[in-house]
Amino acid sequence: MVKVEDIKTITVVGAGTMGHGIAEVAAMAGYKVYLVDIKQEILDRALEKIKWSLSKLYEKGILRETVDSVMSRITTVVNLNPDGSYTEEFAKILAETDFMIEAIIERIDLKQQLFAFADKHAPPHAILATNTSSLPITEIAAATNRPENVVGMHFFNPPPLMPLVEIIRGEKTSDETVEVTVALAKKFGKQPVVVKKDVPGFIVNRILGRFINTACHIVHKGLATIEEVDATVKYILGLPMGVFELSDYSGIDVFYYVFTAMKERGFNITPCPLLKEKFEKKEYGMKTGKGFYTYPEPGKYVRPKIPKELAGKVDPVLLLAPAVNEAAWLLENDVATKEDIDKAVKLGLGWPKGVFEFADEYGIDKIVEALNKLKTDLGLEEMEPQPLLLKMVEEGRLGRKTGKGFYEYGEVEEIKKKTILVRIEKPIAWVILNRPKKLNALSPELLKELGETLDELEDNPDVRVVILKGEGRAFSAGADVTAFAGVTPIDIAKFSRRFQELTLKMQFYTKPIIAALHGYVLGGGLEIAMSTDIRIAAEGTMLGQPEINLGFIPGAGGTQRLPRLIPRGHAKLLIYTGDMIPAEEAYKLGLVEKVVPPERLEQEARALALKLAEKPPLALMAAKYAIEYGLESNIWAGLALEAHLFGLLFSTEDVIEGVTAFLEKRKPKFKGR
Ligand code: NAD
Repeated sequence: MVKVEDIKTITVVGAGTMGHGIAEVAAMAGYKVYLVDIKQEILDRALEKIKWSLSKLYEKGILRETVDSVMSRITTVVNLNPDGSYTEEFAKILAETDFMIEAIIERIDLKQQLFAFADKHAPPHAILATNTSSLPITEIAAATNRPENVVGMHFFNPPPLMPLVEIIRGEKTSDETVEVTVALAKKFGKQPVVVKKDVPGFIVNRILGRFINTACHIVHKGLATIEEVDATVKYILGLPMGVFELSDYSGIDVFYYVFTAMKERGFNITPCPLLKEKFEKKEYGMKTGKGFYTYPEPGKYVRPKIPKELAGKVDPVLLLAPAVNEAAWLLENDVATKEDIDKAVKLGLGWPKGVFEFADEYGIDKIVEALNKLKTDLGLEEMEPQPLLLKMVEEGRLGRKTGKGFYEYGEVEEIKKKTILVRIEKPIAWVILNRPKKLNALSPELLKELGETLDELEDNPDVRVVILKGEGRAFSAGADVTAFAGVTPIDIAKFSRRFQELTLKMQFYTKPIIAALHGYVLGGGLEIAMSTDIRIAAEGTMLGQPEINLGFIPGAGGTQRLPRLIPRGHAKLLIYTGDMIPAEEAYKLGLVEKVVPPERLEQEARALALKLAEKPPLALMAAKYAIEYGLESNIWAGLALEAHLFGLLFSTEDVIEGVTAFLEKRKPKFKGR
C-alpha cells in the first residue's frame, strides 16, 4: 500500500467544473498532475480557468509561488480516441499514477468503464478515488480488481476555496486507503471528514436535502412564505443564505438531480412538489433569470430582497429539526462521528454552528416536538423522530439546558434562594424572579436577593451573560405594595434609593443582562427590565408604569429611563395615564428589542445569550460602559471615554486572539483577559 509521502503523481480525470479545480488544488500542494479529458479544447479551457484562479490567489497573497510555476506541474492528456476507445497515452500516464481522482460526468457506466481501464494500467499500489456526488462507491469499485483501493473523495465547489472533503468508504475499501486519502486531503490543505458507510448523499447532501426539502414543503403547505423562511434561516439561524436563495444560486436543477439520485438509491424523502414544478418549468434560479426569486437577467446574480422583519415568522426549530433528525440517523447508523457531522455542515454548508450544536442549543425536546408537528402538519412519515432523539429526551439529555445533549457542557447548577432561583448553564446564568403566586411582586427581600445574586454572578468566571426572567404568569407586576403599609415616607424614600441602586448596578453591570419578558411587566418590573441591556418580550406581554393610579409615581428610575428609551411624549403618556401597552407596541416604540411567540421566549433568549457569550467579554464591557456613561454625560466626555477604552482593549489577549483567528479564518476563543 502506498504511503502518503510516496504519492508523487496525481491524475485527475474529467476537467469540468470540479476536475479543473481539483487539479489546481493538487498542483498547488506541489504534486505532479495529469489532467485528463476527452477533448483538447476542454483541457485548454480548463487550463485557462486554472490560470485565472491561480492569478486571483496570487493577487490575494495566498499563493506562495508564481502562477507559472504551479502551472508547470500540470500536464494535460486526451484520453479518448475518435472510436471511443481510450488512448495509449492515457494508459501510459496511468502507469505513472500514484493516486487518481475521477471527476467525469455522473454516469455509472462511464465511471465503471474508466475504473476498469485505470485498474488495468495503474500500478498495484495506486489508489483510485471518485468525486461522485450520488453514485455508490461500492458499485464503481466493483469494476476493478482492487476494490480495497477504491474510495470516494468528494470535493465541494469550487475546490480551491471550499475547505471540506468527504472521504467515503465503499464496502470493500481498506482502512489504509481511507487513511492515505485523509492524509492526502490534508496535504491539499483541506479538512477531511470520514463517511464510514456508503450511504446516498453522504453527510452534507443528506442534511442539506432534508433541510431544503422540508422548508419547501412548509412553503408549499402555506405554513410560511419563501421570504419568511429565508429571513429566519439567515437572520435567526445565521446561515449564509436562505434556503430558497441558495437553491436559486446553486441551481434548482442541480439540487433536483442530486435529490432524485439520492432517492433512487433509497434515501427516504418525499420530493417537494414546488421543487419539481420549478424544475419542470425550467425555472432553475439565477442562471435562467427566475427561480423562487426573479433576477434582472439570466446569469446575473443580484441578492434577492429578504426583509429582516420577517425573521422569526416561522419557528426556526421547525426548519432545523429535519436536519437534526437526519444527522441523528447518520450518528445512530455509525456513518460518521458527531464531530465530523458538525464539521461537515460548518465547512461544507457554511453553517455558523454544527447541526448538533444547534440542536443542543434549542433543546432536543423542542426538536422532537417540531418533528411531530411537521409529521402531522405536512403529513410526512419521514419526519418521525429518530430513536436516538427520543432516547435522549427520555434520559433528560436535552442539550445545554440540562448540561448534556449531543455534547457535554458541565453540570447545570441550580441555586434556590427564598425569592430567586438561579440556574447556571455555563456560560450563561438565568436569574429567575420566583414569587409566582404574587406575580413576582418586588418585595424588599427579593430586591436584596436579586442584588446579591447579581454580585455573585459578576464574580463567577464561568458566567458571561445573565438572563433575567420571571417564574409563573408574569415577569413582575411591580413593587409589593403590601410592604408599604404603615411605613413612613422616609422609609419609602430609602426603599426607592435601594431599588435605584439595584437598577444602577444592572445598568453598569460588567456582563450583558438580557430580560426575557412575559405576562405583566409593570411598575418596578418595567424599571428592572429597562435597566437591562436587551429586552425580548413574548407576544401578549403587557408593559406599563401604573403607579399614577395609586397616587404616586415610578420610584426606581422609571421617570428617567423611560424617556431615555422612548420618545419623551410617549413616556409621559405612559406615566401620566398609567396605561399598559402590548409588546408589539412596545417594540415599535423601542422599549423592547424583539417580540417572539411565548413558546419561543426561552430559546430566543438563550440563543442570544450564547451568541454574546462567544464575544470578547472585556470588549462587551467596554462597549456597554462607553454607551451607558457616554449617554449620561456629553459627547466630548463620551468620545474621550470611547477612545480610551478602545486603546485599552489593545492591551488585552483577546485582541490578539481576535485578530489571529480572523487571519487564520477560524472562530476566535475569547478568554476575557
Ligand atoms: P462537468 O460536466 O462540469 O465535467 C465533467 C467533465 O468530464 C467534462 O469536461 C467531460 O468532458 C468529462 N468527461 C466525460 N466523460 C469522460 C471520460 N470518459 N474521460 C474523461 N473525461 C470525461 O461535471 P462536474 O460538475 O465537474 O462533475 C463531475 C463529477 O463531480 C460528478 O461525478 C459530480 O457528481 C461530482 N461533483 C460535482 C459537484 C458540483 O458542484 N458540480 C460537486 C461535487 C461533486
